[in-house]
Amino acid sequence: MADNKRFLLENATTLVTMNGAREVLRDGWVAARDGLVTAVGHGPVPVFVDGILAQDHQRFDATGCVVLPGLVNTHHHLYQTRTRAWRGAVDSELFPWLRTLYPVWAQLDNEDFHRAAVVGCQELLRSGCTLTTDHHYLFPRAASPELLDITIEAARKTGIRFHPTRGSMSRSQKDGGLPPDDVVQDADTILADCERVIGKWHDPQPGALVRIALAPCSPFSVDPDLMRRTAELARHHGVRLHTHLAETRDENDYCRQIYGSRPLDFLESVGWTGPDVWLAHGIWFDDDEIARLGRAGTGIAHCPTSNMRLGSGICRVRDLRRAGCPVGLAVDGSASNDSSNLLAELRQALLLHRVLGGAAAMTVQEVLEMATLDGARCLGRDDVGAIEPGKACDLAVFDLEAIGYDGADDPVAALVLCHPEPARATIVGGCVAYDRDGGGIGWLGR
Ligand SMILES: [Zn+2]
Repeated sequence: MADNKRFLLENATTLVTMNGAREVLRDGWVAARDGLVTAVGHGPVPVFVDGILAQDHQRFDATGCVVLPGLVNTHHHLYQTRTRAWRGAVDSELFPWLRTLYPVWAQLDNEDFHRAAVVGCQELLRSGCTLTTDHHYLFPRAASPELLDITIEAARKTGIRFHPTRGSMSRSQKDGGLPPDDVVQDADTILADCERVIGKWHDPQPGALVRIALAPCSPFSVDPDLMRRTAELARHHGVRLHTHLAETRDENDYCRQIYGSRPLDFLESVGWTGPDVWLAHGIWFDDDEIARLGRAGTGIAHCPTSNMRLGSGICRVRDLRRAGCPVGLAVDGSASNDSSNLLAELRQALLLHRVLGGAAAMTVQEVLEMATLDGARCLGRDDVGAIEPGKACDLAVFDLEAIGYDGADDPVAALVLCHPEPARATIVGGCVAYDRDGGGIGWLGR
């Protein structure tokens, strides 16, 4: 009888390991126990794998498929799934877009947050994403003060690996910030809830399914005191730090007016750069700032669709990577994407940078690195992002027989260059979290 702690994917036409040698195996197989990979190989599966009969594993037949390490999404706002293509904000840049949407978001309730988390995570799984973060900075009066728990419970039901961030906003319009007064919280309330969710949910162990990070929203919605105290709390508990930075020129103007400096100067002044920090967007950095970020080892979540949708600008991805910053990919919130398809984001990143710098400006291999290994580095994980023994068994399985890939020559390039097709299946910790051909929990998770 099959052991439900043992998993074996076999017959993969192409297995992209992203291991140190970047091996790509034909007729590949992957075995796992308790969610971690025990062996990887190609050709016929041995009779015994990791000490037990191959036939006693839960087996998944990947005939005709390309298998990648599960994709890593480094920035999202799941709640925005309730406000896609919002009338009045479809043709706006960031600041007017936010001013239109803040009052709408202030009306969301517990049911909205639950549904949005399930929908967003299901969409991500369907696109081959196995690990997502969620920058949750909105705590409306009408919703539970323990709102993060609602999104975590919803995300867990979908089977995705989840890194929610306890976000925050403390500077409202009356203090010169952008958000209205009724969507911000005071620093003591915020920090007490940060400490609560770390204690309740954060799992520092390898293979963890839930990890918490702390994430004040942006320079125009927080104050320096909250930034400093959040960094102290995060470092005390060994959790990571995340925020939006250098997304638009409006933000540069705001920082000059309020702080008398540029966004990165502000961030450094509150003790926020380092290898335990990753930043969403990072578009408007100059050469000196890129060098400083590289020396600090700070990560960047590159969100090409959102940046194009809001007309924010183009992140200097190659310069940041060359300087030493891990740069991951991200869908960003669904009010500025307006979907949660991470495979589509690989294609967007490749195309966007080729518009700017020619066909050599971004390669298929680079976007794959960003979507796997570098995304994992942004989130502080050395146990995901590649298919090799000891790492989590997180796999994205794509069917080359899907109509959109028909006629493709290079099976790996096809996933990036062709219009994205839904995954055949998505495996998280050796469990099938999404199966195109059946199973799963249904799109609302109940
Ligand atoms: Zn964002």
